[in-house]
Amino acid sequence: MKFIGAHVSAGGGAQNSPLNAKAIGAKAFALFTKNQRQWKAKPLEEKSIAEFKKNCEEAGYLPEHVLPHDGYLINLGHPEDEGLEKSRESFFDEMKRCEQLGLGLLNFHPGSHLKKIDPDKCLERIAESINMALELTKNVTAVIENTAGQGTNMGYKFEHLAAIIDNVKDKKRVGVCLDTCHTFTAGYDMRTKKAFKTTFDEFEKVVGFKYLRGMHLNDSKPDLGSRVDRHESIGKGKLGMDPFGFIMNDKRFDNIPMVLETVDDTIWPEEIKLLYSLIKK
Ligand SMILES: [Zn+2]
Ligand SMILES: [Zn+2]
Repeated sequence: MKFIGAHVSAGGGAQNSPLNAKAIGAKAFALFTKNQRQWKAKPLEEKSIAEFKKNCEEAGYLPEHVLPHDGYLINLGHPEDEGLEKSRESFFDEMKRCEQLGLGLLNFHPGSHLKKIDPDKCLERIAESINMALELTKNVTAVIENTAGQGTNMGYKFEHLAAIIDNVKDKKRVGVCLDTCHTFTAGYDMRTKKAFKTTFDEFEKVVGFKYLRGMHLNDSKPDLGSRVDRHESIGKGKLGMDPFGFIMNDKRFDNIPMVLETVDDTIWPEEIKLLYSLIKK
């Protein structure tokens, strides 16, 4: 079964996100558990936590179909000690917030070398950051998102994801989230059945579907291999409808949260319906 949703607002508190998800007909959702543009946030209030859990239960959302996203400032592969420490501290707080909310996944962008350290060294730092974070929580899985490879961002090659996982001690609590826009602009084609097969055979070989814990479903404004991260509404970008049809009819993408981060949130209800309509009976 497919669990499609969107990255909904948690404005007014995390407890509102399941309500916002339900309102658009989502079967899964993503949220920020704090302001994504700030380092620090107030701790979650007991009342907000209890309401979040209650609202999820009433709307029928299981923890494994909720994919929280961490803040934009965090760089777990930061080349400098101060930046690395600040990032780790903030990430640990995010992991704990997920645990408090009864959630089991935290999606994050791996990190950037900022041209100050070797890219391989950066990947090692990211893995070390994950190891430290996993020690502080019991039930949260660190979900590494692949990137478009813009600037000095790591994680645009499946090999980067594999290298990070390789250095994580607790393999049961590390996973990946593939963003269709990032995958495509990083250079992996999926517009034809053949290209789709090649790309995901490669993913299986290098990383493995057993690590796939979520998807971001976005069409792409930039072209294949452009290494630019700009999302487009489903079917309106350079990917077009076909790749989404392949995904919706592929069992390897069952039972994980698949979340829209497309540009026009007013059409999310239609986009969710559109995606479900692609399933061949
Ligand atoms: Zn994404
Ligand atoms: Zn993106």
